Amino acid sequence: MKGTYLIRTFGCQMNEHDSERIGGMLRADGMTPTAEVADARVVVLNTCAIRENADNKLYGNLGHLKPLKAENPDLRIVVAGCLAQKDQGLIQQKAPWVDVVVGTHALPHLLDLLRRAEDEGPQMDIAEYTELFPSALPAARNDAFRAWVSIAVGCDNACTFCIVPFVRGAQRSRAIGDVLAEVQGLARDGVVEVTLLGQNVNTYGRDVTVPGTSRRPLFAELLRQVNEVEGLRRIRFTSPHPHDFTPDVIEAMAESEKVCEHIHFPMQSGSDPVLRAMQRSYRRERYLGWLDRIRDGIPGVGVSTDIIVGFPGETDADFADTLDAVSRARFDSAYTFQYSPRPGTRAASMPDQLPKEVVQERFERLVSLQERISLEKARAQVGTETEVLVEGAGRRGASSQSRTRTNRIVHLQGALDPGTFVTARITDAAPHHLSGEVVPAPALV
Ligand code: SF4
Repeated sequence: MKGTYLIRTFGCQMNEHDSERIGGMLRADGMTPTAEVADARVVVLNTCAIRENADNKLYGNLGHLKPLKAENPDLRIVVAGCLAQKDQGLIQQKAPWVDVVVGTHALPHLLDLLRRAEDEGPQMDIAEYTELFPSALPAARNDAFRAWVSIAVGCDNACTFCIVPFVRGAQRSRAIGDVLAEVQGLARDGVVEVTLLGQNVNTYGRDVTVPGTSRRPLFAELLRQVNEVEGLRRIRFTSPHPHDFTPDVIEAMAESEKVCEHIHFPMQSGSDPVLRAMQRSYRRERYLGWLDRIRDGIPGVGVSTDIIVGFPGETDADFADTLDAVSRARFDSAYTFQYSPRPGTRAASMPDQLPKEVVQERFERLVSLQERISLEKARAQVGTETEVLVEGAGRRGASSQSRTRTNRIVHLQGALDPGTFVTARITDAAPHHLSGEVVPAPALV
């Protein structure tokens, strides 16, 4: 197909990764990207079913596209991602001007679907295919220096607030050789940082074997092998599940110099009854124990987390336990969410849904505690020098945004080239970022 395309991505890194593949397929088919919806021949909404109001957002966006489609019948509108998988035929019932609905497993069929839509009208494919992993598709990456690499899709857990197992299915791990081949290819193309993606990276390999053996590859083993890829400088991953976490991952992180000293370790709640109701199969002391072991094994490691406030049935005492766990855990940063029911999840039909104002009040107390801890931890960095990777232009004038190995954002003065490494001296701190200046490289003698 010729012409231009525009992709709007909602939600998590898995969707960012899939959007890069959607862009890659469209480019390989001869299309070019545009930032203007009015110029686009193909508009893709890559949707998320996890965030609040995801449905409203999708149908709001489709409402805006309706007059464009009426003006330009050649416009092709595609809905992809988790909401496509969840709502399926409902999307074209509610918005008959949508040309293609493509589920999370059917991405490799996107070009076919678009071609068929030209001749036959609206298409939908939400079937499960196992022959091709999304990462094996061509990618149009946003940055030349970093890339997402999917190591597994789907999830075998059943957290009661989460839609992922319904829309992404059971976990499917990618063959270790395929992951390594992709990372090697990326490194040859100049990529210096990869982020390994999976809903639960610790269970990577449960469903595949190391070629020529009956042995299951372990996530720690994958980390060590990716660490050997020449040209690569940084390895990140997201996310581990505290229930499946194992000490060999700490050892692999500590011993693999390219694996960054950062872990995103979702706690979700500091209350055991709430964790039980969420069907998160670890308890607070076990979680906090893991944090101690991680910090002992990886000095200076940055720790971030996810916390949901106001889960159905959460009492004042449960919430006090969460505040206490946050005080003890001293996270560097936390993604805090106010619970709201997501259609299709078990928690949505639980009794004791909390009033909005109770959730809001608890949320504000949690955010203010975490902001204080984040600021204290950020201030402790002032005066230190650290390696940062320049990611792009900063928010103000001639400035750049960069990132430490521990996943802290550092704003630097001056327009620096994205993808370069510099040493930054930290001069100032805020809860969510640091400011710094570039330390000149020593002169060669
Ligand atoms: S581990 Fe739980 S929260 Fe994470 S994707 Fe699986 S079901 Fe969802």
